[in-house]
Amino acid sequence: MSDRDQINRRDFIVTTAGVAGSASALAGATLTTAEAQTSPPAGFDAQEPFAKNWAKPLREVVQVDPIVAAPELANEAVKERHRIYCHLLMKLMVRFWNGNKRGPLGSYPRRVKQMEAVQPVQPTQRYRGDMIENPDRLRINWDRYVGHNIACVAVDGNGEIIDFDFNHNDFFRSSAEHAESRMVRRLFSLTDIFDSWKTGERIGDKSRAVSLQNVTLYTSLESCAQCSGVMSLGGVKQVVYLQNDFTAYMIGNIMFNLANPVSGLPGAPKPIPASAVGLQQFQVLNDANLAFVKDIQDAKARNDSTRAFFISPDKTVVDFDPSITSFLCTDAARDIFEAGGKQLDAMALKFPNEKHPDERDVLTNQECLEEARSFFKYADLEGYRGSPHKL
Ligand SMILES: [Zn+2]
Repeated sequence: MSDRDQINRRDFIVTTAGVAGSASALAGATLTTAEAQTSPPAGFDAQEPFAKNWAKPLREVVQVDPIVAAPELANEAVKERHRIYCHLLMKLMVRFWNGNKRGPLGSYPRRVKQMEAVQPVQPTQRYRGDMIENPDRLRINWDRYVGHNIACVAVDGNGEIIDFDFNHNDFFRSSAEHAESRMVRRLFSLTDIFDSWKTGERIGDKSRAVSLQNVTLYTSLESCAQCSGVMSLGGVKQVVYLQNDFTAYMIGNIMFNLANPVSGLPGAPKPIPASAVGLQQFQVLNDANLAFVKDIQDAKARNDSTRAFFISPDKTVVDFDPSITSFLCTDAARDIFEAGGKQLDAMALKFPNEKHPDERDVLTNQECLEEARSFFKYADLEGYRGSPHKL
């Protein structure tokens, strides 16, 4: 593409955006101020949840009480069951952790624990990505930053783990290859083949893949608008997240409140912060992220590179970006996930014989824990960082 083409293309986008903007301004002008305040425009007024929330302030539109959305969360045994998969997710995060967001060479002042034992000749250092401790000749022991340290695990209605996935933005040079949307797309591609999973009720003689209404997604970071949308369209039952994404404007909560029900079920996944299942790391991760932002902004203001995120080998680039994907490379973040992951091996169940729902084929909490531990072993040996496995 020539420079001229690029400019023309940019002009085109700007012009079209301008036209679209004035079109919606015109449409808006047809509403009187009074009408706009009392009821939604014709058509929108027939959408019950939307109309019900029309006059509410944002602070109410984003409000979701997890116990009201999922009353079973009042049951300690159910919370314990959810925590098992949260700990598995944290262990997978650490197993495939790669903090080399700006490459393995240079200096990452906040990743001292992730430096390689053997260092190259100065002036640079080398950092460890997702290479394994005990290399196996039969698999590639790679160390390439393929995406951010954000992952999810999908679990079916019986408690069986379907699969896990990671963010792959850098591998595909895309900003949309998020863990949850990759997972939902993969579930649709797999359900034709593996229909032993209890992903949802079979509707007549239709394929099981039409809905994921029994699937719970455990995701390490609160979902963005794209992933909340894909999960809604996929009919995912609920999403349990280990940490807030403050930049995602509580879109999962907003969608849950505004979506029309589908066949009597919520039209968007129930958004469940892991604090609602008693996961202690939820608050710890949020606090550590906020502390990171505050500290790195202060470092930038003082031009203090000893507290930067990254310094290039030739020292010409000093990165003070406070983004959450940088936080999710640091020792501070990794330590929290590591402590949480270790609990998968250490946890003693209070409700080993409980199951939810109490139906045939549903695993007990003890069986869920065994499932989660054996899934980790499988992922450790057979899985790559969220690559299509199983097949
Ligand atoms: Zn997303």
